Amino acid sequence: MAKYIFVTGGVISSVGKGISVASIGRILKSRSISVSVQKLDPYLNVDPGTMSPYQHGEVFVTQDGAETDLDLGHYERFIGVDLTQASNVTSGQVYSSVIAQERKGDFLGGTIQVVPHVTNEIKRRIRQVAEISAADVVLVEVGGTVGDIEGQPFLEAIRQMRKDEGRDNVLYIHVTFLPYIAVTDELKTKPTQHSVNELRRIGIQPDIILCRSDKEISEGIKDKISLFCDVNKEAVIPLVTSETIYEVPLLMEEYGLGDFIVNHLGLEAKESNLDNWHELVNRLKAPKEPVTIGLVGKYVELQDAYYSVREALRHAALTHNREVKIEWLNSEELQDGHCDKLRQVQGIIIPGGFGYRGIEGMVEVAKFAREKEIPYFGLCLGMQVMVIEFARHAFHSQDANSTEFDRDTPYPVIDLLPEQRGINQKGGTMRLGTYPCHLVPGTKAAHAYGYEVTYERHRHRFEFNNAFRQPLEKAGLIASGLSPDGKLVEIAELRNHPWMLACQFHPEFRSRLDCPHPLFVDFMGTAKETLTEGAQTSLPIN
Ligand code: GLN
Repeated sequence: MAKYIFVTGGVISSVGKGISVASIGRILKSRSISVSVQKLDPYLNVDPGTMSPYQHGEVFVTQDGAETDLDLGHYERFIGVDLTQASNVTSGQVYSSVIAQERKGDFLGGTIQVVPHVTNEIKRRIRQVAEISAADVVLVEVGGTVGDIEGQPFLEAIRQMRKDEGRDNVLYIHVTFLPYIAVTDELKTKPTQHSVNELRRIGIQPDIILCRSDKEISEGIKDKISLFCDVNKEAVIPLVTSETIYEVPLLMEEYGLGDFIVNHLGLEAKESNLDNWHELVNRLKAPKEPVTIGLVGKYVELQDAYYSVREALRHAALTHNREVKIEWLNSEELQDGHCDKLRQVQGIIIPGGFGYRGIEGMVEVAKFAREKEIPYFGLCLGMQVMVIEFARHAFHSQDANSTEFDRDTPYPVIDLLPEQRGINQKGGTMRLGTYPCHLVPGTKAAHAYGYEVTYERHRHRFEFNNAFRQPLEKAGLIASGLSPDGKLVEIAELRNHPWMLACQFHPEFRSRLDCPHPLFVDFMGTAKETLTEGAQTSLPIN
């Protein structure tokens, strides 16, 4: 029978609750305890797939094709698990299914209420993760902060879980923030006390408090939190902002969190082994020669929109014992001949995106990369942009385009798949999730992977249009990754270029610190050898 750890947040959002949950998963896994994870998101959208990156950051895609919260990316990267759609539950999903049951007549005669109907549906979905995964421990993060109106049914459901599952099988962890007041040079615990009071009002007494802070936390502060919040002092865990997020599991371990959880839940565990992780973190923190990569997109002011891409670049750089330095470049600002900024970068990456805004700037960037022979890596939209630019060059026509951006283009080199035509509903209707991709021998892609078939995650509506495959191949484009039936171009690369390669899928979702993605590693390998105009003066370190 699974045990449950519920993690709530207090005081403010964005203090790294997701990273904390992912790190707890890692320290349990390092003791040979199997872990699965779930995020409960109180908003009313069914999933974040239809939300703007400005609202929500990146949409993380699971192997079974769910469009989920970016916290699932942290969980997968830290714990090394492949999660499923059951791992992200929103109020939208919960209410939709309760209302569908009501319409079917499942509750005939009854009044449908938040307690018990909505809370039962939430609990059913929590237990479903335990069943599907058969994990020893299910870690459940409740999104938002305690006190949010939408969060109430979720908190009520997790409160009931302690009674349902048995007191020894459930643990509550509260992640709070200690603000620093510069005038008096002190950290304040009052907001933490208030948020714990709010939790208690609902009936949840936290067993552990994780205190996020930008400053060292003194023993006195820990005593105070322990006293006022009624939590053992060894369960008040300071989490001072670290140099890298990958250090968090090590910090938690240092403060004894792993042992505390194991004892509290009576888990059977082996001795913790984080040696490999330790080694990776030490290498991450050591000073290294940088590789400068220009990331060109339209949401660059909000780096969360490209979270997995940034992490995948970091992982790949570490493989080469380098450090990636990302130049975040807004494609709209590079438009109309402003690509000169790219003379300072050793590689260019164009990640995924939707809609026409910013596209012409990206096409110019692709042209610049092709002509100046700068390594270029396109992810999903980045592949479509590369194909559009190459077609404009090959066909001597500025009209080549994707039908996403120009419905009437005479050269629709990127077009909707037949099965996508006529779909008007926006949510959950894209080509989503994992598909196999066969690598064509002798290509850069095949060389990067070193094996014949890869399984990669997709999230798009448009595809390479086969009607143009032959003329584009003749002009120097190589279809280097194909669907098993050979009909879908999943990877394309340019023949006469050091490294201009792009894929229709999102390789970034599969990259891990301890298992970087082959395409990112190969791209970084070429980029690190590329000299920028300022290279001779700015690059070499040791
Ligand atoms: N907008 C493009 C499509 O729908 C690319 C999507 C993406 O980059 N994820 O095909």
